[in-house]
Amino acid sequence: MKKIALLGSTGSIGTQTLEVVREQGDIQVVAMAAGKNIRLLEQQVREFRPALVAVWEEKDACILRESLRDMQIRVVSGMEGLLEVAVIPEAEILVTAIVGMLGIRPTIAAIEAGKNIALANKETLVTAGHLIMPLAKEKGVSILPVDSEHSAIFQSLNGEESNKINKILLTASGGPFRGKKRKDLEHMQVEDALKHPNWSMGRKITIDSATLVNKGLEVMEAKWLFGVELEQIQVVVHPQSVIHSMVEYEDGAVIAQLGTPDMRLPIQYALYYPKRRRMSGKKLDFYELSGLTFEQPDTETFQGLALAFQAMRQGGNIPTVYNAANEKAVALFLNRKISFLEIPEIINACMENSRYVNCPTVEEILTTEAETYAFIESRW
Ligand code: NDP
Repeated sequence: MKKIALLGSTGSIGTQTLEVVREQGDIQVVAMAAGKNIRLLEQQVREFRPALVAVWEEKDACILRESLRDMQIRVVSGMEGLLEVAVIPEAEILVTAIVGMLGIRPTIAAIEAGKNIALANKETLVTAGHLIMPLAKEKGVSILPVDSEHSAIFQSLNGEESNKINKILLTASGGPFRGKKRKDLEHMQVEDALKHPNWSMGRKITIDSATLVNKGLEVMEAKWLFGVELEQIQVVVHPQSVIHSMVEYEDGAVIAQLGTPDMRLPIQYALYYPKRRRMSGKKLDFYELSGLTFEQPDTETFQGLALAFQAMRQGGNIPTVYNAANEKAVALFLNRKISFLEIPEIINACMENSRYVNCPTVEEILTTEAETYAFIESRW
């Protein structure tokens, strides 16, 4: 029995992780954490029977303790609770499927405790990649990507460790607004931005796909995960989302991973790496594919992507500013307080007005996040 702990069990990646667990039948979830959705969490606890459960608010923990009193389960709360789940001794893998920078401290704690990380929470690498990657190396733990593009790259690198790569080709669907220009985007509403053409995901990441900020975050994530130069990462718009990403080697050979857009595959690959397992669901039918097309991203219209490259070039705490500004801007957009095009404008304003910190510590990353939030709150 493989034993895992899961942060973010009630979210899009969390529930799909539990689908994999349910289908495979030989993984035990020993601990899980969620935010506010205690109704779903209770159902999950009853089905998967972990020994430890964490929620964010103590008042929700009290409710859950009461409703689960017929079971032998410890219910904890807050950051302390997340940390307990992250380091629970029985688990060999921690799946980080919570959203935002909240994931940094539990991820670091789990690495310190020698756990392999199945990493969905890209914000941790974007903001703290310079701390997490060397620590993982020192502790001899693996960071197994769950993001579909990074899983595709990881799969394309398999067995090629001694070969030199020219570049990583990070594919992007282009999101719901592909082909549109700035003037078309002026009046786009939340509902329009939430209509992703190929993938079904959480609300925040779906908006990030519409702005191409998600691709920007993925560029940063790829740089840390695969230790390449920024110039070696090329974003390729591929609207059909059949090729999940590719690697070009020094001889010009390009190796890719293809499949239907289903997050269960990269989740399952990370959980069982290096083994592959049977998986239910639709497989690619090449007779049905009408064609695969590729385009250059339009960074004039989707400035969030260009800003990501700029943030990464600046380095230090600027990727944190980029990420924090985007989180807040997306929340404002989802609450209909700002327009779609204001999202990259806010990111840009925050990057221009931030206090630069080289090689930030976790505390400095969290301070940068708070300062970025305060800057936005003072203006919008
Ligand atoms: P969701 O918004 O669907 O889920 C987020 C999860 O985090 C929920 O379980 C939520 O709990 C939990 N959470 C939020 N706040 C807290 C908190 N304070 N304490 C504990 N748990 C909390 O996000 P996704 O699943 O879409 O994304 C998760 C991560 O994976 C993100 O970093 C995203 O970028 C990344 N990712 C997602 C992909 C996808 O297809 N969805 C693809 C690749 C990467 P609750 O709902 O109970 O409040």
